[in-house]
Amino acid sequence: MSSLAKIERDWLAAPEAAPRAVSLCCVCSELISEGESYWDTAAGDVCCDCLDGMTAAAFLEDVCCEKINIATKD
Ligand SMILES: [Zn+2]
Repeated sequence: MSSLAKIERDWLAAPEAAPRAVSLCCVCSELISEGESYWDTAAGDVCCDCLDGMTAAAFLEDVCCEKINIATKD
């Protein structure tokens, strides 16, 4: 095969299939695609980008739906 024919064949080849979406991140609503890492939490699936950027307080509030408390004395 001539190099020109090879270039033409590669040029015309179908693009690689887009990764299949498996789930949605419940925080940012971005697709979680096949092969990606994610966290399966009580609130739903969370992508690693969201979790990596979260403080523990944000995680408790956004994912675990916990509310911060103010200490009071009865
Ligand atoms: Zn996310």
